[in-house]
Amino acid sequence: MTKNQTSTNVWTVVIVVLLLSIGMGIAAFVYRSTTQVREALAEEILEQQHDVSSLIQEYGNVMLSIERKRLDSNAKNQNALTNALSTAQSQLVQMRSNYSFERLDGAAKANTFIKPILEDVDQWTTQGLHGIAADDPFVLDLAAQRMQERYADIREISAEIDNVANELIAAQTDFLGRFRDSMLLLLAGFAMLSLTIATLLIRQRNLQTQLAIDQESNAQKLIEAETRGRLQAEEALLGSEQFLRATLNSLNSDIAILDHNGVISAVNMPWKSFVSSNEQQYADGGIGHHYETVFKSTAATELERDGIHMATSMVADVLSGKSDEMFFEYPCHRDEKRQWSLVSMSTFNTGEGRHSVLVHEDVTERKRLEERDRRLRAELAHVSRLTTAGELASGLAHELNQPLTAITHNCDAVMSSMRDQSEADAEVLETVNDISEQAQRAGGIIRSMRHLVRKDTGDKVPTDINELVKETVRLTAPEAREKGVNVTLLLADDLPKLHMDPVQIQQVLVNLERNSVEAMWQNESSVRELSIETCLHGEEHVEVCISDTGPGIEPTFARKLFSAFQTTKTNGMGLGLSISRSIVEQHGGRLWIDPDSEGVTIFRFTIPVT
Ligand code: ADP
Repeated sequence: MTKNQTSTNVWTVVIVVLLLSIGMGIAAFVYRSTTQVREALAEEILEQQHDVSSLIQEYGNVMLSIERKRLDSNAKNQNALTNALSTAQSQLVQMRSNYSFERLDGAAKANTFIKPILEDVDQWTTQGLHGIAADDPFVLDLAAQRMQERYADIREISAEIDNVANELIAAQTDFLGRFRDSMLLLLAGFAMLSLTIATLLIRQRNLQTQLAIDQESNAQKLIEAETRGRLQAEEALLGSEQFLRATLNSLNSDIAILDHNGVISAVNMPWKSFVSSNEQQYADGGIGHHYETVFKSTAATELERDGIHMATSMVADVLSGKSDEMFFEYPCHRDEKRQWSLVSMSTFNTGEGRHSVLVHEDVTERKRLEERDRRLRAELAHVSRLTTAGELASGLAHELNQPLTAITHNCDAVMSSMRDQSEADAEVLETVNDISEQAQRAGGIIRSMRHLVRKDTGDKVPTDINELVKETVRLTAPEAREKGVNVTLLLADDLPKLHMDPVQIQQVLVNLERNSVEAMWQNESSVRELSIETCLHGEEHVEVCISDTGPGIEPTFARKLFSAFQTTKTNGMGLGLSISRSIVEQHGGRLWIDPDSEGVTIFRFTIPVT
C-alpha cells in the first residue's frame, strides 16, 4: 500500500468518526435539553398545584375564622368578628403577595374569584350592607355564605388545574418521546450518512488507487514501448553509423564530413592518421574544428601551401553553394618524395542542412603512370621515327649494297686483269685494291646497319661475341672519331660462341659505347679512352667490359641508373640502360656498373656460355 493510500484511509476514518461524533453530540444535547425542560415544567406544575392547595387551605382558614366569629356574633361579640374578618383579609392579602397567581390560568382564575370576595367581605365587615350594620349577624352570614360559595368554585378550579397540569405533562411526555425517537432516527440517519460517505470515500479511494495503478501501468507500458522504440531507433542509427564508419574506414582515401559551416563532424581512419601525423593537436582528425585550419596545418612545403590555398578557396565555393562539387590536384612532399594529392568534394542534404564529403586522395601513382605514359608516347614517337629512319637506312643499304658490290667486283676484275699485264702500274693496282677494300668495308658497315635495324629480332643463334663487338665499333667509330675518342679493343681469343640474339646484344653494346663517348665528350675530358674487353667470367659466362675515362656517375644517381626514364641528358630518354639490362637478363646474364673502379667508368655484362 502506498503512502497516499494510507493517508486516504486515515482521512476516511477521521471524517466518519467526526460525523458520528457530531450526530451523537447533537442528539445528546437535544435529549438533555428536552429532559431539563420537562423536569422544569413538572416542577412548575407541582409548585402551582402546591400554591393552589395552599390558597385553598388559607381560604378555608379564613372561612373557618369567619364562621367561628359568626357563631361568636350570636353572642353579640361584634368586635371579635370584625377582627376575624380583618385577620382573614390580611391573611388573604398576605397570601396574594406570597403567591403569584398569574403563572397559570387556573391560579389567575382563583385570584379573580378571591379578589372581589375579599373586597365584598371587607366592605361588608367595615361599612355594613345596605344600612345594615357591619357587625350584624346577617351581614356576617352573608359574608360567610359568600365565602363558601366561592370556596366550592375554587376547589373546582383546583381540580381543573390538576387536569390541565396532567394533560400538559402527558403532552410534554408524548412530545419528548416523539422528539427522542426523531433524534434517534436522526442519529441513525447520521450513522447511515457517515457509513455512506465512508463507503463512498473508500470506493473513491479504491477507484483512485485502481486509476493510479492503471495509469502507472499504462505509463509503464508507454515508457517501455517508448524505450523499446528508442532502443530500436538507436540500434538502427548505431548500425547505420557503424556501417558508414566501416565503409569510410575501408576506403584508402582520407575522408572528412563537413557541416554547412565547414566544421569537421566525422572522419575516417586514414584522414585521422594523415592529420595527426602532421599536427598532434588534431589527434582525432580535427573533429569540431574548421576544415581550413586543419587542412592548412598539413602543409609541409611552400609549394604544398599554395596548392592547399587554391583547394580551400574551391572548397569554400562549394560550402557557400556557388558550386556543387570540386576537384583539384596539387603537388606535395611526403617522406622526401614528390607526391600528388587530389582534393574532391561533393555535397548532400539532411534534415540538419547541407553537408559535404571532403576526400583527399593520393594520386601519385596515377600521376606517375600518366607521366610514364606521356614519356612512353614520346618514346613511341621516337621509336617510330627511328623505325622509319631504320627502314630508310635499310632501303638505302640495300640500294648501296649493289653499287658497292659492283665496285668490288669491278675492282677485282681490274686487279685480275692488271696482274695479267706485265707492264701494269703497281701504284694503280694498289689504289684499285684500296678502292676494293673500302668498298668492302662500306658494304660491311651497311650490312651491320641492316642487321641493327632489322625487325626480325628474338632469334637466338650461336654468335661470336668478338665479331659482334667489332661490328658495333664499326658503327660507333664515326661518332667516336668525331668526338675525339680513341677506341681500344681487348678481345680474348678462343671464346666460345654464345647463344644469343645478335641484334639485341648489338643494341646493348651500341648503347654502352655511345653513352661512354657522349659522357667523355660532354665532360670535355682531355683523355678520351674507350676500351672494350671480352673475357671468360668463370667457366660459364663470357664477360664484356666497357670502360671510359669520362666524368663518372654521381653515387645517388647511380642507385637509380637502371630505372626507366632516368637521364641527365637534355634529349635523353633514360631508357637505354633499363632496356639493356632487361635484354641481358633475358639472355640469362647480368649488367651492372663496377663500383670499385677509380678514374674510369666501367659497365660490365655477362652472357652464359650455354
Ligand atoms: P639516356 O642515354 O637516354 O640518357 P641511358 O639509360 O642510356 O639513357 O643513360 C642514363 C644516364 O646514365 C645518362 O643520361 C647518363 O647520365 C648516365 N650514363 C650512362 N653511361 C654513362 C657513362 N659511361 N658515364 C657517365 N654517365 C653515364
